[in-house]
Amino acid sequence: MKKFILLSTLSVLFIPFSEAACPDGKTYKVHFTFDDGPKSALTPRVLDVLKEEKVPATFFVLGEYFEGGKKNPATKSAYAILDRMKREGHRIGSHTYNHIDHPLYSAARVKENIMKPNPWLKDYLSPVLRLPYGGGSFRSKNPATQAKNDMVMNTVKKAGFKHVGWDIDTNDWDAKKRPTLLPTMLRDICREKGGVVLFHDVQKNTVEHLREWIKAVKKEGHTFGPLEDFVPEAKKPLPPEACGEDSTLKGVKDLEGDVGKVLEKIKVKE
Ligand SMILES: [Zn+2]
Repeated sequence: MKKFILLSTLSVLFIPFSEAACPDGKTYKVHFTFDDGPKSALTPRVLDVLKEEKVPATFFVLGEYFEGGKKNPATKSAYAILDRMKREGHRIGSHTYNHIDHPLYSAARVKENIMKPNPWLKDYLSPVLRLPYGGGSFRSKNPATQAKNDMVMNTVKKAGFKHVGWDIDTNDWDAKKRPTLLPTMLRDICREKGGVVLFHDVQKNTVEHLREWIKAVKKEGHTFGPLEDFVPEAKKPLPPEACGEDSTLKGVKDLEGDVGKVLEKIKVKE
């Protein structure tokens, strides 16, 4: 009996050192995503770490960095980074043209902001898009707000994209939260049972700590999977309607009229 008690005590003592660190004793699969780039001083350093750690990731790139496409010499370094992302097996998604909060804008501007970069990026994009701030992808109890959200999400859908949000937000842009970023992320991976994790490759602090964070996630016993493990649509090619080569977007104009009735009392920027 004494032996049994001693053994039980020992096993309790050793639990904190076990591989599976989640309270349920399980390990989970995650996928890291990076928004707002590419930035030539930082994004290549993210790619270096991902390559060395053999981690597949997704980059939601901002269309304004590809203004005018390859014929614009100013886009050369941004395209060189995209080529490397593609070569090294990462997914590239759209973060739209300008970093605007779409539900605050007119249907015409929303459509333009979603469609504009696609011809410049069509050789790179998977049919996945993340709206800046997730703007439009959340549910609202306010019918007028929800009508705007629906307008945005319908435009994303009609352009042929699957919207990809996140399960775990690291808030890596927030300097105040940096000291607790890692323990909070590890806690949230357990709470959410894995999933898509949001980072920004334009944040110096993120670039500097990425290797340490990846190693910590691996040490907990979690694994990294490609985006299609979470979003099967990511495997498909970009459909023609994303570049305006399909008639389905005609519907967006009609939608604008419907939303306009609901929204006549709301001030819309521009
Ligand atoms: Zn963003």
